[in-house]
Amino acid sequence: MHKLNTLLLAAASASILSIPAQAQTVSEPSVRGHVSYLAGPALRGRGSATPDEAAAAAYVAAMFRGYGLQPAPGMTGYTQSADVTALKLDGPALLTANGVAVDAPLLFSSTGRPITGTLSVFAGNDPKQIAGAVVILSGTGINPLRVAGAVDPAKTRLVIVRATPEVRDYYQKIGGAPRLPRTFKGEAPSPRPTVVALPDAAFDALAAQPGADIALTLPGLVEQQLVTTNAIGWLPGTDPSAGMLLVSAHLDHLGVRPDGQVMYGANDDASGTAAVIELAKALAQGKKLRRSVLFVAYGSEEAGGFGARKFIANPPVPLETLVANLEIEMIGEQDPKLPAGTMMMTGYDRSTFGETLKAHGALVTADPYPEQNFFQRSDNYALAQKGIVAHTVSGWAVVPTYHTPEDTVERLDLPFMTRAIQSLVAPLRSLANSRAKPEWKPGGKPVAE
Ligand SMILES: [Zn+2]
Repeated sequence: MHKLNTLLLAAASASILSIPAQAQTVSEPSVRGHVSYLAGPALRGRGSATPDEAAAAAYVAAMFRGYGLQPAPGMTGYTQSADVTALKLDGPALLTANGVAVDAPLLFSSTGRPITGTLSVFAGNDPKQIAGAVVILSGTGINPLRVAGAVDPAKTRLVIVRATPEVRDYYQKIGGAPRLPRTFKGEAPSPRPTVVALPDAAFDALAAQPGADIALTLPGLVEQQLVTTNAIGWLPGTDPSAGMLLVSAHLDHLGVRPDGQVMYGANDDASGTAAVIELAKALAQGKKLRRSVLFVAYGSEEAGGFGARKFIANPPVPLETLVANLEIEMIGEQDPKLPAGTMMMTGYDRSTFGETLKAHGALVTADPYPEQNFFQRSDNYALAQKGIVAHTVSGWAVVPTYHTPEDTVERLDLPFMTRAIQSLVAPLRSLANSRAKPEWKPGGKPVAE
């Protein structure tokens, strides 16, 4: 493209996106301040249910208080916590065949319990056909990364796969540590098979020993009692019968990996948390709204949606009073697939919420990745399953920095973020003052599980 054309286009798009000065309530320095702290060195990646997550929640709570929000009805403060039990493996897993140690087993996921059994070799390519209690997969047509979800954990307790380069890459991606059960305190973990990957030589040797007595033990297993924290602020409206809006994000991220690498999570989801804070500030200014607005930053989204589940199990207000939920996730970079300056809304066509916000100026558009099921993959979904019109807005949902150490403040597109957050202020204000409710469209409401 010619340089002059580029300049003309830039000028044209700047004027489309410019906002009258008096209406500007979200500023870039303010947004930068929030993300710099939340995704900065002090909070070390806000690991789910860690003291760093609690510090992030305390920050959000302090902002809510500072901007004049109140504790939600039925609460005396701005945080809600839940006890979480997690298992952690300090040391290697031990795998033996006929009493002889197998070389370098890489434990992917486990129930935490020791396993013994007789080895069977499965050479097929359909994981649904796997039936033995302890199985080594010698077929090459099964994706070893998908096998855990495909087998019946009541029949198959241990699955042994080959540690291909893809398997090793994925292991690094999940943090170089096994997935172990994490539950609310006192809750039984859901059954799942234990998965172990073996290097080629050990794998081939074991696959040649059907009938071998296999034992897997986890000598370094420790049980940890953790606490996860939500931050909750409430903006009371003038009409208690009008229902409430819920504006939410998740404040946790992946924390510090076992190798010491900090996962800052600037986009995922310090960006959405900053948006919740800024929207709380903007909506708390000016004339009181008709509907109340609840602002929530959830803990432990990354570890299995614990914060959202705690909120739903112990809501400060009856869930039926929630008129709509807007979840904000990863708005730190623009999606090159979308029109410049816009966010996508997951499940856009399922309800009237997106078009209502858009009609009032929100920079939202439909989700270009329906095959990714993003509607089902964020904290909005648990509420949507309760019948509440609940959607997530995102920037670039398949951004290359997703769940990498490169997800840092330096990579954020702060001008885009600022405009995107600003664009939600008037539509939310309008909805809070409206008598109309967003509704599911025919077939749009998810079926409760
Ligand atoms: Zn994430």
